Amino acid sequence: MKCVEEAIERAVKHRHLNCLITETFQLALDQASEAQKKGLKPFPVIVKDCFAVKNVPMTCSSKMLLNYSVPYTATVVKRLVKSGGCIIGKSNLDEFSMGSSSLRGYFGPVKSGFSHKESLDDDWVVAGGSSGGSAVGVQLGMATVALGSDTGGSARNPAAFNGVFGFKPTYGLLSRNGLVPLTNSLDAPSIIAKSADDCKTYLDVMKGHDPFDSTTVDSQRCIANAKQSLKGLVIGIPQEYFNDVLSPTVLRALNSSALELEKAGCTIKEVSMKHTEQSIVCYHILGECDVASNMGRYDGVSYGFRKLNETSLDAMYTASRNRSLNKVVKNRIIAGNYFLLKENRKKYYDAAVRLRRLIAGDFKRAFSPDGEGVHALLTPVTSDSAESYKHWKKERFQRDWVDDFYTQPANMAGVPALSVPVGFCKKKRPVGVQLISNLFEDDLCLSIGKELYRLMGEPQIE
Ligand code: GLN
Repeated sequence: MKCVEEAIERAVKHRHLNCLITETFQLALDQASEAQKKGLKPFPVIVKDCFAVKNVPMTCSSKMLLNYSVPYTATVVKRLVKSGGCIIGKSNLDEFSMGSSSLRGYFGPVKSGFSHKESLDDDWVVAGGSSGGSAVGVQLGMATVALGSDTGGSARNPAAFNGVFGFKPTYGLLSRNGLVPLTNSLDAPSIIAKSADDCKTYLDVMKGHDPFDSTTVDSQRCIANAKQSLKGLVIGIPQEYFNDVLSPTVLRALNSSALELEKAGCTIKEVSMKHTEQSIVCYHILGECDVASNMGRYDGVSYGFRKLNETSLDAMYTASRNRSLNKVVKNRIIAGNYFLLKENRKKYYDAAVRLRRLIAGDFKRAFSPDGEGVHALLTPVTSDSAESYKHWKKERFQRDWVDDFYTQPANMAGVPALSVPVGFCKKKRPVGVQLISNLFEDDLCLSIGKELYRLMGEPQIE
């Protein structure tokens, strides 16, 4: 009970950072006493505001869903609560999870806990995204575990910016029932926590088949190959991930990580993943097509915001959507509809689907004993540590898209990927690296991440 009360105190203390859209403190306290009655140990949880929690508003940080409450609870949330989880609140995000900064939500930006007090009003440190509220919340101790969603990096990116672990499990291991879809075949409910062990604990609590999501898989398919020692493991470094925008800071973090892994008995091997560069384009085509279709449900009739006093049904649809969705969301809907036009479909969508197979093939080859035979890949997770808001703006929000280069290939292939905090840059902001392993080798990924974190000991990177 005490840890839940303390988490609530911290949430109140850090309200100015805008992590939570909806606070559910009373719900958390009720759940804590329920848990205690059942002999469970309560723990504080934050849920990204694109997951359903019964009778609690779910906004996706959009004006469109401002007054929307959900009649049921997402499977992953249910499973957390059943094991003692107490929901402190619903966290802030980029509108409908589109973005990598948590600057783009209807409720205003999430500010990082690494921001300086003096510059909190106009030049805070960007939280990363889209699950920025979840990552900042965990970093500041408002929750032991937070749910994020990761379609192209949305849990791993803010985890890296805030010095916590962000884990996207194998596609289908965690149920998407009750998660608002962005790109159905890429979306993975994800875990943000302060240790790899915590990620593992809560993964075990939530994973497995769910009759409400036909894409879930039985947890028995997971390979129990967590390693106590790293001796004899082969870690691949794909050369194609080292692109022009990668900062010296992250490069140094990767070098020291590789060195430490080598000292611990790993073999470091350079590998090639030929389709990496095309992956981001492919990600956007497939993503935008799904967005065009998924966002069709927001018409002002079945859900959400409705613009009144329009002169026709069409005018009402148009005005409702136009007035309530942000520019990023609208652009993606338009792009998706363009890619799906009868005359364009072959050229874009069908080509992207085929390319996706080749991208997944790169991973398969890397992990196969007949291919490169690596146990895990070590890559950047972001191009640099977090930036200040002014800098972000000066670069015209480019950073919102460039960092996806490193994270979305794992979603394209469905493989598990972990953002591991490995140190701090000169500005005293966290730096992370990414570990990716083969399908269903989630345990292995987390155990390597745990060791890497221990070996690195959070040093100053530069
Ligand atoms: N930044 C990526 C995008 O905007 C990833 C989003 C996500 O993972 N939800 O598409």
